[in-house]
Amino acid sequence: MPEIPKYKAYSLSNFRDIPQLAALPESLRFDIEVVGQVLPFKVDNFVLDHLIDWRRVPDDPLFTLTFPRRAMLAPAHHDEIAGLLRAGADADRIRAAANRIRLTLNPHPAGQISHNIPTLEGEPLDGMQHKYRETVLFFPSQGQTCHAYCSFCFRWPQFVGLSELKFASREVDRLIDYLRANPQVNDVLFTGGDPLIMSTRNLAQHIDPLLEADLPNLRRVRIGTKALSYWPYRFLGEDGDALMALFERVAASGRHLALMAHFNHPRELEPEPVHQAIARVRQTGAVIRTQSPLLRHINDDPALWAEMWNRQVDLGCVPYYMFLTRDTGARDFFSVPLVRAWEIFRQAYQRVSGLCRTVRGPSMSANPGKVQILGISEVGGEKVMQLRFIQGRNPDWVHRPFFAAYDENATWLSDLRPAFGEPRFFYQDDLEAYYRENLPASHPDDYE
Ligand SMILES: *Cc1c(COP(=O)(O)O)cnc(C)c1O
Ligand code: SF4
Repeated sequence: MPEIPKYKAYSLSNFRDIPQLAALPESLRFDIEVVGQVLPFKVDNFVLDHLIDWRRVPDDPLFTLTFPRRAMLAPAHHDEIAGLLRAGADADRIRAAANRIRLTLNPHPAGQISHNIPTLEGEPLDGMQHKYRETVLFFPSQGQTCHAYCSFCFRWPQFVGLSELKFASREVDRLIDYLRANPQVNDVLFTGGDPLIMSTRNLAQHIDPLLEADLPNLRRVRIGTKALSYWPYRFLGEDGDALMALFERVAASGRHLALMAHFNHPRELEPEPVHQAIARVRQTGAVIRTQSPLLRHINDDPALWAEMWNRQVDLGCVPYYMFLTRDTGARDFFSVPLVRAWEIFRQAYQRVSGLCRTVRGPSMSANPGKVQILGISEVGGEKVMQLRFIQGRNPDWVHRPFFAAYDENATWLSDLRPAFGEPRFFYQDDLEAYYRENLPASHPDDYE
């Protein structure tokens, strides 16, 4: 076992102490300070020492993954915050300006807040989301942060304390009641933040009661995490031993444990501690499934994706999803048009063995569901984009091909119009009926 270093986090208040940053121009540090007022920023010593290639900063993809960069804000927003900082404005004024800017960045995309909160006996269950029939998401309240923050993350509002957007739960009992009342649910997905930010003792207090509740419908426990990349020591050492024992208890209960691991770049799969962490997790019988969004400036290159999937399969992980980056936060910096995304996916997929082709995508987690771009075709003389639901708010929508008018610049479902002059996509009447029965649409996007 390697020696386990002490975890050290840096954020806006102490990033100037990062040794590797000292050699870089002051303008770069000022940009971090400006953009970091608006978007979340936290990085740890593993990312600094093992992932970032400091010779390539600021364009290094792993630097871009975790550090605020000037181009992540619109120039006018950047200038406004920079002006306040230069003028020595007080913290309240800066925060007010930052919050105003944040609200222009679509802080709650895809009806997260209004539409996916389940209820039990008429009471909303905070800290849970239930959108797709088989899977409930659970947000443990102590798991709502991460070892480091990804600059593209759609959960950014909760990390910057737009507090009305926070949702988290301490109540595993309510989750158990909900699972008992909803036998169609087979999977519970612990998510955050990163649930593995919690100590094993804490995490076990959420998972053990679920195993002991004797719920025949609960077949899978999933944990969404980036810890394999940002803090692989989480799986090693003493608390790592306890975590592996917890994973083994899930397996011993006859249930499958899936670690939904985020890797955005093949370099994240290189460090030795990451290999050790993956090997340990696999020894428990858990399966690591991998996912990432497609991100301009980080991984918008088919060769890179092919290499990433290859390395994952070499290490015994299963490639699962390629997502499109959501319509929120610094998305203008990161987004890739849908047509280009499909080309990258296809070119990467064509290069790899069938063992890597368990991956699905590119997929948008939009309001009606996860929509995959299947390709570009010509039908009856019209150039069209072929789409389908991988997951739908209504399961009946899944795997029905449908068509949008070709649009090379579209970056999200809401940019697309139906092909063949049709007024609406096939699911839209159904979706509106759902909204009428549930909560009123809180913002215009909700009808897309
Ligand atoms: C992606 C997602 C899931 C899980 O979907 P799978 O296709 O089963 O992995 C569940 N709930 C929500 C809200 C999701 O976005
Ligand atoms: S680790 Fe996951 S939840 Fe945390 S910032 Fe990155 S993408 Fe978001």
